[in-house]
Amino acid sequence: MSLLSSGRFKIAGTPAPRLNTRAVRFRLTAFYALISSLMLIGVGGFYRQRLAANLDTQIHDGLEQEWAAAHGYLRIEDDQKPIWYYDRKDPGESYIVERLKHVYMLADAHGNVMRSADGGLEISETYQSLGVDSPAEVDAIIQSSQPQWKVRKSAQGVPYLVYRGVIYDEKHNLPYFLAIGRSLSDNQRILGQFTWTNVAVIPLLILGGCLSGWFLAGRALTPVLEVAQAAQRISGSNLSLRIPSRGARDELDYLIETFNQMIERLENSFNQVRQFSTDVSHELRTPITAIRGQLEVALFTARTTEQYREAMLNCLEDVERLSQIVRALLLLSQAESGQLALQKTHLDLAAALADVVDQFQIPFEAAKVRLVSDLVECTAFVDRVQIERMVSNLLSNALKFTPPGGEVRVGLKCDSGIAEILVEDTGVGIPTDHLPHIFDRFYRVPGADAGPNPERGLGLGLSFVAWIAKAHGGTVRVESEPGKGTRFSITLPLESAVPAAITPAGVASVSG
Ligand code: ADP
Repeated sequence: MSLLSSGRFKIAGTPAPRLNTRAVRFRLTAFYALISSLMLIGVGGFYRQRLAANLDTQIHDGLEQEWAAAHGYLRIEDDQKPIWYYDRKDPGESYIVERLKHVYMLADAHGNVMRSADGGLEISETYQSLGVDSPAEVDAIIQSSQPQWKVRKSAQGVPYLVYRGVIYDEKHNLPYFLAIGRSLSDNQRILGQFTWTNVAVIPLLILGGCLSGWFLAGRALTPVLEVAQAAQRISGSNLSLRIPSRGARDELDYLIETFNQMIERLENSFNQVRQFSTDVSHELRTPITAIRGQLEVALFTARTTEQYREAMLNCLEDVERLSQIVRALLLLSQAESGQLALQKTHLDLAAALADVVDQFQIPFEAAKVRLVSDLVECTAFVDRVQIERMVSNLLSNALKFTPPGGEVRVGLKCDSGIAEILVEDTGVGIPTDHLPHIFDRFYRVPGADAGPNPERGLGLGLSFVAWIAKAHGGTVRVESEPGKGTRFSITLPLESAVPAAITPAGVASVSG
């Protein structure tokens, strides 16, 4: 049979592919490291940007305030000499003015550096090293009367931020150029320190991330390896093994559960195949043993032609039974492997059923069982041969298991796109615990063959009924009460779109 010969369920003996778990672990770690590096670098860059912006704002605000303070301390006298007005005895004030004068320049409207009353130039040494503003620059600032910012480098390469603006003497309202500067080296040092701290710390963090990623990936993969090892122990000969659940109710437990369910299905299929082989051998052995016995008896004891004839007739009966079994098995196998295509036509079901009922009238009369039918008009798109085979199987069972004086009723209903074929009898019935198995191949209710019309069946008739109904997209239902009778109900869609080829699992799923 198909299940037996196809070898579809081969598990044992296939070498397990070599698992490169390190590659998975490495990939997980690398991915983790990449993501954390990008995040750390991104966050570091963002905070460096924020720090630079804050420092910049701070120095601009500070310089503006210093410029305003310098403006406050400066007076231009009538003789156009600048004077720094502050309390020279006050150390605080003196310190502030000294600080202001650390980087500064005061010039007239022509760009000439001014001289104080004592003849000193109003420009600091540091400012000189930054480069004195040209008369054109001074003029441009005075003309625009807008303060301007500029970054300049000293001779030593230290950058300075310079704030240049215009002040006026109070009397003549003449414009003067005042520039104040501040070193940017502190800001650059802070930014540099921040950058270097990042450069030093981020690789350490990434390294730590890699190590913990490697460790975590290892921990996550260990149960997968355990599951794989447990799965490898399961083979065709010990399909009863199951992978133990970890009790964590996580994705891995779900995988284990799914895997175990799959093994259970495989085990069931294996058992079915084993059972089937046993059944087939048993079924074939019985007539073969009978033939052998009869031939031996004839050979050693038969004297007359009549005795030989009788032995040969008996053998022929058993040979007939053997070929019946083989034919039926072949047909079922073809049906289940999808080789038996349905030849569907629009069939007048009532007429087809009436024909089958007619064919059974004579054997029913002989068995003194009443056969009645109650058929309504109904046309369905079905395979005539298979539908007739299905009803014949049900009728021959009904005939076999209904005692004389009983009644068998064949019905046909047609409603909402569904045809329902009913075969009811008032026979011996089927015990409830046997009902789920009667569609299995070779299944016969023990002791039932000794029923009213004893004729040993093959136990394959209902398997066909189930397959035919399923192949038409229909269902089979059976209700039975021991001693009272049995009722089979088959529903078929009038326009079934189900493909003729169906799988063995499809047949197995049809039950009483
Ligand atoms: P068989 O060739 O033995 O009839 P089936 O597959 O047709 O094989 O039926 C399986 C078993 O189901 C039968 O052996 C019989 O025990 C039981 N059975 C089927 N139909 C009936 C029925 N109408 N009344 C009582 N028992 C039935």
